[in-house]
Amino acid sequence: MAVILGDGAASAGATRLNEVGRFVREGDRWSSVGGRQRQPRVAFSPMDRSTTILATVAAVAVSASVLEGLVLSWLRPGSYDWRATGSSLLITVGRRLTDLLPLSIALPGGQWLYEHRLWTPDLSAWWGLALLFLGLEFCYYGFHRANHRIRWFWATHAVHHSPNQMNLSAAYRLGWTGKLTFSLVFFLPLCGLGFPPQAILVAFGLNLLYQFWIHTTWMPRLGPLEWVLNTPSAHRVHHAANLEYLDANYGGVLIVFDRLFGTYVPERADLPCRYGLVKPLQTHNPITIVFHQWIALARDLAGAGNAREVLGHLFGPPGWAPHGPGETTEAMRARATGATAGRGR
Ligand SMILES: [Zn+2]
Ligand SMILES: [Zn+2]
Repeated sequence: MAVILGDGAASAGATRLNEVGRFVREGDRWSSVGGRQRQPRVAFSPMDRSTTILATVAAVAVSASVLEGLVLSWLRPGSYDWRATGSSLLITVGRRLTDLLPLSIALPGGQWLYEHRLWTPDLSAWWGLALLFLGLEFCYYGFHRANHRIRWFWATHAVHHSPNQMNLSAAYRLGWTGKLTFSLVFFLPLCGLGFPPQAILVAFGLNLLYQFWIHTTWMPRLGPLEWVLNTPSAHRVHHAANLEYLDANYGGVLIVFDRLFGTYVPERADLPCRYGLVKPLQTHNPITIVFHQWIALARDLAGAGNAREVLGHLFGPPGWAPHGPGETTEAMRARATGATAGRGR
């Protein structure tokens, strides 16, 4: 799932593995024993292994989502949006193709920071891995929150939130432009603390792999697990466009940072989630889905009158407007509260 889901993480990890794999093969080539040339040993290189793992994970993920679609269609005929799943699959294929472009510096500056690290945690010890896990979860919280609150990052992340139904296929609908926005800078502090960039990218891939199963509507709340883990219920709220649910539950594997920083919102029995974007996308065209936010941003930038407006459009929250309150979450909530108060008078 790392490759399907990772925002550049898996591709960078795979590139690294490819280099290692090439070295293994070339190091073995035509080695001479007793004056006789022999063919290289057939080794199971890291490249082969990573490719196999990634292909297996992708196959399992797609099969699981299709199976979910079949079961849901059988239970409630006509209720499952197969065209949306088809779009998600095409977007995933397109995303894999963008990995072929020589764009990726997955963790820009990461290697330099690692070489000037403050400390060297022992990743062969349990506590080293535990620190990496916790550190990654903390950085992921910041990364994901920024993805929602800064339009420059949201332009890519909105693709993941575009399906109007919540199901497993939404998990692998991800934008293509994450590498261009350098959104992984949020993980750089881990490099400075002494975690190797490759280890961070693998941990990030595993974090995203965990999140596959939480894109479901049929899984109930999970009792005490809701206190600690990001669950299907918590992630349903994250994908909901209801005003009451917007900008909540940013965690990856853990939900504890949402609880600590005040962004945790529990699912309510009296408020069904309405999935998709605030202004729902009605298209199944993968290109439109992937680029619609960038086109809207370009339009706003073209109409900007000064540097403040340019910066506001780029780095303000989605919905920011140069004049008036705009359509940010806060502005919409203030309007809704005002309307409710008005009705109460
Ligand atoms: Zn999100
Ligand atoms: Zn999601």
